[in-house]
Amino acid sequence: MAGKIHILKAELANKIAAGEVVQRPASVVKELLENALDAKATRITVIVKEAGKSFIQVIDDGEGMSPDDALTAFERHATSKIATAEDLEAIRTLGFRGEALASIAAVSQVEMKTRQASDETGFLLRIEGNDLLEQSNVAMESGTTVVVKNLFFNTPARRNFLKSRTTELKNITDVVTRMAIAYPEVAWQYTSDEEELLDLRPKSADGRLKDLFGDRQAESLVRVRATADYLTIDGYIGRPDFARKSRAEQFLFINRRFVLNRSINHAVFQAYEHLLDKGMFPFYILNLTLDPHRVDANVHPSKMEVKFENESNIYRFVLSTVRKSLASNDVIPTLSMQADATLGRLDERLRFSQPQAPSPGAVPSQAEVGGQTTRLSFAPGEGLDQVDLEKLFGKIERRLGAEPLRKDGEATFPADLQRVTPPSSDRLLQHRPMRAPGEKEPVQEGRAIWQVHNKYILSQVRTGLLIVDQHVAHERILYEQVLANFENNLPTTQQLLFPQTIQLTASDYSLVKELLPHLEKIGFDLKMFGKNTVVIEGIPADVRVGNEAEILQNVLDEFKNTEQKGTIDARDKLAKSFACKAAIKAGDRLSTAEMIVLIDQLFATQMPYVCPHGRPIVVKITTEELDRRFGRR
Ligand code: ADP
Ligand code: MG
Repeated sequence: MAGKIHILKAELANKIAAGEVVQRPASVVKELLENALDAKATRITVIVKEAGKSFIQVIDDGEGMSPDDALTAFERHATSKIATAEDLEAIRTLGFRGEALASIAAVSQVEMKTRQASDETGFLLRIEGNDLLEQSNVAMESGTTVVVKNLFFNTPARRNFLKSRTTELKNITDVVTRMAIAYPEVAWQYTSDEEELLDLRPKSADGRLKDLFGDRQAESLVRVRATADYLTIDGYIGRPDFARKSRAEQFLFINRRFVLNRSINHAVFQAYEHLLDKGMFPFYILNLTLDPHRVDANVHPSKMEVKFENESNIYRFVLSTVRKSLASNDVIPTLSMQADATLGRLDERLRFSQPQAPSPGAVPSQAEVGGQTTRLSFAPGEGLDQVDLEKLFGKIERRLGAEPLRKDGEATFPADLQRVTPPSSDRLLQHRPMRAPGEKEPVQEGRAIWQVHNKYILSQVRTGLLIVDQHVAHERILYEQVLANFENNLPTTQQLLFPQTIQLTASDYSLVKELLPHLEKIGFDLKMFGKNTVVIEGIPADVRVGNEAEILQNVLDEFKNTEQKGTIDARDKLAKSFACKAAIKAGDRLSTAEMIVLIDQLFATQMPYVCPHGRPIVVKITTEELDRRFGRR
């Protein structure tokens, strides 16, 4: 008796495979475009009718195929792109499975014309549901044209599952748009039901973005570029005020292949930290270039997902790169006084300003901004007279307006991002303790920096007035120091002459025990004495002596509080709690020297504009705003 198991006929097997690769018209377009790009086309035309349901045509001017290859191409697992298992580990093409043409042909009526430049004539073949209906020679330019008619004509169930014309067309448009972003050097033409939707000439990457998203959007973008050992990030991120209500305008490419990846997506989102309102998503276009050995593109039928060899490394790299790019740009909130200042909540009156084009004369000369001279690092009372505040604020000003727009609206990008990148964490570790109250204050007559109500620091900058909240500013500085300590293992502890004993509740005692390794990294030197007693023998360098027991208790309380709000990462939470509780407070009087150090260190952080809890640190009132207010214009 014959067994129950039998091998499926090729035709049926192809139909099943097609179910994975070809889910909708947009999948056909995607596969055909990938083939055209793999064939090194420089001009690609896409024509669809009825959102691709009745007609899809892709015309390219690429390498073309010989007649034999053209026939073979429709076999399953027929590919010119890989040959060995090693090749599969190092994919540099968009296609590699050799399934697309076979799958498409299984569920539609296909006509292909192709000609290699070296061949006299082109070759035409017609296939329907895998049956070869016609082959002949044709006259044509070199390249390949594929027509796919009546998709799913022989799989009615699939056909019925297709969505509305609008939805299917949108899917196709998305596919074409993503490819056009990733391949700006290619000319793209895209027509739907006789209507030309795109006609893009070859451009530079940012030229292409303007063509696709308009000048306004393109100008709101911040250039991102960074390289680590095996990974390069290149692209653009949107300024926070251009954030969107959906993720639709987030484009992630791995080696120029559009992919969806939650982890990297999250890294970008995280980098915006509190710069975005709830429910808003940043616009971004990022291409990660990495050795194909380190990423597996063969994990999903539509190749839309990838697996990284070391995802957490990539996560961290994306996070820090995007963060730095944001920090080195002017995303500082500007206080607009145009509206009646009594109206609305504060956060409604804060909006993110556009970077302003400085007049050419106002740009500080190289000597004036020369990095080293403006880096403050001093012990209290020492060398302050040498400090040239003009230089200091010249530097801040440059950071704030790091990427001015040219008059013609074209964004200019610094050739060397290093220049505007915040200093590394060892710089942060050089941080000197704030001076204890009562220490003699060096005379700083005539400097453009003031403390107001022992709460805010006012300082003049080239384009206006900065207002800094001293508590949140210090909070941001401490927060980043603590995070750096966690990474570097180099806590700066001041040993106490008289260790303090503190009695905790049982639950706080076990919390301290649990957090001990982290607390030590922050700079606490604690002895667990038993019986819920802790002896504080040393405290972080930045904590004012005398407050140690109180600060430890406050940090624990804050930690417990944030826990209830469901923060996940214990170290980050501890960093935030510590920063909040150890920072100078509103009401603390600061000397001019302390204010200068504070401002300098603030702008050396990665994100000087918002505190770890999301409150604004800096507000700027531009001179224009003041002029308007006083009726000068
Ligand atoms: P894959 O792209 O995974 O190799 P496909 O089924 O998409 O598989 O294509 C099979 C082969 O047909 C490709 O490897 C390529 O050699 C050839 N081919 C397909 N489309 C084109 C094209 N537009 N121009 C040149 N060659 C093509
Ligand atoms: Mg392919």
